[in-house]
Amino acid sequence: MSLVKLEYIWLDGYKPTQSLRSKTKIEKDFSGKLEDLPMWSFDGSSTEQAPGGSSDCLLKPVFVVNDPQRKNAYLVMCEVLNADGTPHVSNGRATIEDDDNDFWFGFEQEYFLWDPATNKPLGFPAGGYPGPQGPYYCSVGANNAYGREIVEEHLDVIIEAGLNVEGINAEVAAGQWEFQIFSKGAKQAGDQIWIARYLLERIGEKYGVAVNWHCKPLGALDWNGSGMHANFSNSLLRTAGSKEIFDKVCEAFRPVVKEHIDVYGADNHLRLTGKHETASIMDFSYGVSDRGASIRIPVMVPQKGWSGYLEDRRPNSAADPYKVAARIIKTVKSVG
Ligand code: ADP
Ligand code: MN
Ligand code: MN
Ligand code: MN
Repeated sequence: MSLVKLEYIWLDGYKPTQSLRSKTKIEKDFSGKLEDLPMWSFDGSSTEQAPGGSSDCLLKPVFVVNDPQRKNAYLVMCEVLNADGTPHVSNGRATIEDDDNDFWFGFEQEYFLWDPATNKPLGFPAGGYPGPQGPYYCSVGANNAYGREIVEEHLDVIIEAGLNVEGINAEVAAGQWEFQIFSKGAKQAGDQIWIARYLLERIGEKYGVAVNWHCKPLGALDWNGSGMHANFSNSLLRTAGSKEIFDKVCEAFRPVVKEHIDVYGADNHLRLTGKHETASIMDFSYGVSDRGASIRIPVMVPQKGWSGYLEDRRPNSAADPYKVAARIIKTVKSVG
C-alpha cells in the first residue's frame, strides 16, 4: 500500500476574475485513472460560491496529470457542482459544447512575473522604469531577460506533467513571458491552461515571485498588455479549401462582439486600444496576417489553399479559457 497525494484544483466564484483554489486529498493506491478519482467537496462560503447556511459545493474530477514536483502525487482539475450535482454557475467548462472534441485550441498565454516587494514586474528598478520596449521580446542576457530561471523550471515541469506545451518566449515588455499550449478538444485545452497556470503560481512561491495575469498591469503607460490569443479550428476550417468559408466564419463573429468581449477577460478596454498590436475593443476586423485585427487569418491559410485555423487576438491573459472556448464554439457553430 502506498499513500498518494491528489491535489484537487478548481476555480472560485470571484468576479470578474476567478482564481485557482486547491487542496490535497490523501488516497491509498490510486490507479492514475480519471475514473477512479472520487468526488470531493469544499466550503463554498469561503470562495464566493455558496451561502454559509448551505455551504457545500462538489468537486468533480475531469482531468488528471502527474505532479512532478511532489512525491507520489497527481494534479486533478475539477469542475464545481452544486450540492444537487448540477453545474455551478461559476463552472465555465460545463458550458462548452464540444463533446466530439472536433474543436482544437492553441492558447498563447502571456503573463508578467511580478515582484511583490516593488509591486512591479521583474526587471523594473524600485521607483523607476527600465528602458523602453524594443529589446525585451525574445531576448537573451541579464540586461533584457528577467526571470528565466522560473520560466525554465515551469517549462520542464509542465512537460513532465504531460501537458502539450508547444513553446515559450520572452515577450515585448520587461518581465513579460508567454507559453503556448495546444489540445484537440476544447475542454482539454482549458484544463491544460489552468494546470499550467497553477504550476507557474506554485513555482513562483519558491522564488517569492508572483504571477500577474492582469491584461494591463502597467496601466496606460507605453508597455504592452497581456493577451491570451485563442487559435482555433474545427473540421470545417481545417478542410475548408475556400476563402468564402473563412469569410463566413469571421463574419459570424461581427454581430456578437459584446458576447465575446463579455468573456474575454476583465478590463480588456484598457488593453484593446488599437495600439500595441491590438484592435480597438469597439471594432471588429479580420485579415490575413493582420496583427492589428480582431481576428488574424494566419498567412499559411491562403498558402495552403484556404484551410487551417483562425486566431482571435482579443481574449486577454486573465480570461477563462473554458469560457473563451465555449463562446467561440457557439459562434463558429452558428455558421450553417
Ligand atoms: P503567434 O505568436 O505568431 O501568434 P504562436 O506560434 O505563439 O503564434 O501560436 C500559434 C498557436 O496556434 C499555437 O499554439 C498552435 O498550437 C496553434 N495552432 C496551430 N494550428 C492550429 C489548428 N489547426 N487549430 C488550432 N490551433 C492551432
Ligand atoms: Mn505567440
Ligand atoms: Mn505573444
Ligand atoms: Mn498570437
